[in-house]
Amino acid sequence: MNSLSKPDLLKDRKKCLICHRAVDIQFRPFCSKRCQHIDLGKWFSGVYSIPSEEIEPVSEEEEN
Ligand SMILES: [Zn+2]
Repeated sequence: MNSLSKPDLLKDRKKCLICHRAVDIQFRPFCSKRCQHIDLGKWFSGVYSIPSEEIEPVSEEEEN
């Protein structure tokens, strides 16, 4: 009865979210600064694509 299924910690190497290479601990979850910047670029482009509409609160004054 030695069917112990221990988690494969050695296989727990995470992959870069951009290029799926081995992650560098300095730049995780990315493999390099380059991929880090690519992801940042994605973020910023996504942010800038969102139109920022300033909605002014309409104050309705009832005249009686
Ligand atoms: Zn990468």
